[in-house]
Amino acid sequence: MGKKYPKPSKQDRKGIADGIAAGTFDPDVFVVLMRLLREKLDQSIRRGSVTPLMHFIYEHFEKSASRLSNGKVACRNGCSHCCNIWTDAYAPEILFVTKQLPFSAEIQPASLIKATGEFSAKVSFEQRDKIPIPCPLLIEDSCSVYRFRPLNCRTAASMDADACQRAFIEGQDIEIPVPPGWSNLGQSYSMALKGAIFHAGLACEPYEWNSALKLASENSQLEQQWLSGKDVFSDPQIALPRPPFTHPFWRDLYGRAFSV
Ligand code: SF4
Repeated sequence: MGKKYPKPSKQDRKGIADGIAAGTFDPDVFVVLMRLLREKLDQSIRRGSVTPLMHFIYEHFEKSASRLSNGKVACRNGCSHCCNIWTDAYAPEILFVTKQLPFSAEIQPASLIKATGEFSAKVSFEQRDKIPIPCPLLIEDSCSVYRFRPLNCRTAASMDADACQRAFIEGQDIEIPVPPGWSNLGQSYSMALKGAIFHAGLACEPYEWNSALKLASENSQLEQQWLSGKDVFSDPQIALPRPPFTHPFWRDLYGRAFSV
């Protein structure tokens, strides 16, 4: 908690209660979103649980996503090509999913999470283009944690499933046609979450998904430790050292959100 910041007004809250418009980027709306996430993070810190923050952001994201036209999205239940590629997530996303996992032998063997995490940690970002590794939470081509999946999975929308198959499974160097608005939406929520975490003084790097999932599933103390300020996924094999807000555009918006 600690640092002060401007709280969103009633009008601000009302203005984005139904999500944000993703077709265009509105800096004022982005600033309100970042402050709201910061407020929810404070709530999470007080309760010792990432749940308030993650419930809020995913519910809000889905409201925004529902405002986009889905007519051109080819993604369907049972299509999971993009669940084989390298992806990353922020610490509260990883910790939130881990809390939902039913580690029973019938549903999802913990051994698969362990083996996938260990293997993924040895494969570089560049190699992953040629080595598809199925997410250990994928069961019969469906996501077993669909309601709790991280932002990157939520925004992996495509207009051509065949292109996904060729790129993500066969390793061909082709562009995935992304429906309008999805990249914008993903970046808005990702940067707003990063800003809220950074302002709270918590570790805000993205982490390689499979490896971080393994670590989180093996140690139930990580959630408390992260909320107390420890960088629980600091292993250099999985942490992606992207300094926050070095780009003037995002640095300016971060300053607008939190300067008092
Ligand atoms: S969390 Fe779910 S949607 Fe994301 S990669 Fe894993 S199986 Fe796919």
